[in-house]
Amino acid sequence: MNIETSFSIGDTIYVIQLDALLKEVICPACEGEGKHTLKDGTVMRCPNCNNGYKNVREKSQYHVAGPLIIGKVSVEITESRGVEGHFGDNFKPQLKREESYMCEETGIGSGACYSLRRGIFPTREEAQAECDKRNEQEVKGNE
Ligand SMILES: [Zn+2]
Repeated sequence: MNIETSFSIGDTIYVIQLDALLKEVICPACEGEGKHTLKDGTVMRCPNCNNGYKNVREKSQYHVAGPLIIGKVSVEITESRGVEGHFGDNFKPQLKREESYMCEETGIGSGACYSLRRGIFPTREEAQAECDKRNEQEVKGNE
């Protein structure tokens, strides 16, 4: 079996990452005091914030990371016609292909793993174009 991959060991790639932008706001529960005074006079820390302030997710944004050099290529190819008469998922027809990469700069073996589906590009320009496209669409929370 000859397996061709989109990228190879030693290739330079640019990846797309999603970052949440956080904004610090005054806590609405204690109006910035960071504490609550109970009816009997007991003062307790506000459980909703940190000293009157809390971080809220403002929006998420994609950005380009790289250049990164590939040091590990993983390919998983699943192709099965399935077995008639069996009802388990593992006997159904299957067709799937996944490629993922680990890079020298972010760790080989353990560290960030970049899957082709999430966006890997050979040039910064191509990665930036895809980022701009994704950022234009409304981004809600995490993927
Ligand atoms: Zn508070």
